[in-house]
Amino acid sequence: MDRLQTWRQWWHSKERRGQLTENMPMRECTTLRLGGAADLFLEAADPEETAEGMQTARALGLPITLIGAGSNLLVRDGGIRGLTVRVGKGMREVRISGNTLTAQAGCMLSSLSLQCAHQGLSGLEFACGIPGTVGGGSIMNAGAYGGEMKDVITLVRGVSAQGQAFEKTGEEMAFGYRHSALMGMDAVIFSVDMRLQSGEPEDMLARIRSLKEQRALKQPLDVPSAGSTFKRPAGAFAAALIDQCGLRGLSVGGAQVSEKHAGFLVNRGDSSRDYLALIAQVQHIVRERTGYELECEIRIVGED
Ligand SMILES: Cc1cc2nc3c(=O)[nH]c(=O)nc-3n(C[C@H](O)[C@H](O)[C@H](O)COP(=O)(O)OP(=O)(O)OC[C@H]3O[C@@H](n4cnc5c(N)ncnc54)[C@H](O)[C@@H]3O)c2cc1C
Repeated sequence: MDRLQTWRQWWHSKERRGQLTENMPMRECTTLRLGGAADLFLEAADPEETAEGMQTARALGLPITLIGAGSNLLVRDGGIRGLTVRVGKGMREVRISGNTLTAQAGCMLSSLSLQCAHQGLSGLEFACGIPGTVGGGSIMNAGAYGGEMKDVITLVRGVSAQGQAFEKTGEEMAFGYRHSALMGMDAVIFSVDMRLQSGEPEDMLARIRSLKEQRALKQPLDVPSAGSTFKRPAGAFAAALIDQCGLRGLSVGGAQVSEKHAGFLVNRGDSSRDYLALIAQVQHIVRERTGYELECEIRIVGED
């Protein structure tokens, strides 16, 4: 019996509250709307069920891919082998005590930002337009308009690749630009503590409205994308470099450098291969003409 089948049988051997889907089309789970199918796709009901599923997969030597809202993710056309775990709607509890908030990793940053504003808690307004989860945003140290997750996070809880529960303080997370100590460690984040300040709901809601308007003006929010495709290279802006090279509108098949914001590579087709070819073309031209190296901010997973 193969490992996938063994894992599947193990999963079905007990009553479960989470949902297991076979051959899940990953285009349905990513904002880029690209990617082949995941062999086994688990959306567990809680952290315990998630950790148990991952532990069993590890013991069987099954590869594990972790995703949140899929808003910073390109899945290749061949899909994802093994077990894909989405930390999502089963893990959206929020507890507030004074100015401290504990949010489970599946909470959407945009809803949390709004909830905080309504409750007079300031500090997360910057995240109102980031379409990711608390887990994804924490590991990536998501940021916008002068704010970053590192400004508010005091503690991160999760389980390591070895199956050990851990707690990491904000300092131990060693946050940098779109980086944290957990990146590449195959650890899963289950919840995060944040320290916020008291504020006037009206002021915060006005700021949120204004940030959302700025985004809608500048970003191609009506076309599938994963946000900024590239990181900001030291001393420059990716979008400005791409613009400087005259690449707005450049396409490979259905993948296109957005006409509205050159830092967004958007998808108007159905091929990750085209999207990857466009990334490579943009990187090559920018390197040749400006000397800058554009590193992908988006995470690329799966098989060709
Ligand atoms: C229109 C648009 C605008 C955007 N604007 C911004 C912006 O202003 N600033 C910004 O920083 N980003 C922006 N993004 C990118 C994206 O929303 C963020 O990077 C977000 O934090 C990703 O979260 P996610 O839940 O979607 O993670 P995913 O894309 O699902 O995953 C990203 C990475 O996080 C890991 N991960 C996800 N959940 C967990 C977890 N619970 N534990 C451990 N690892 C996990 C995954 O393994 C993967 O490596 C934008 C994207 C879009 C589509």
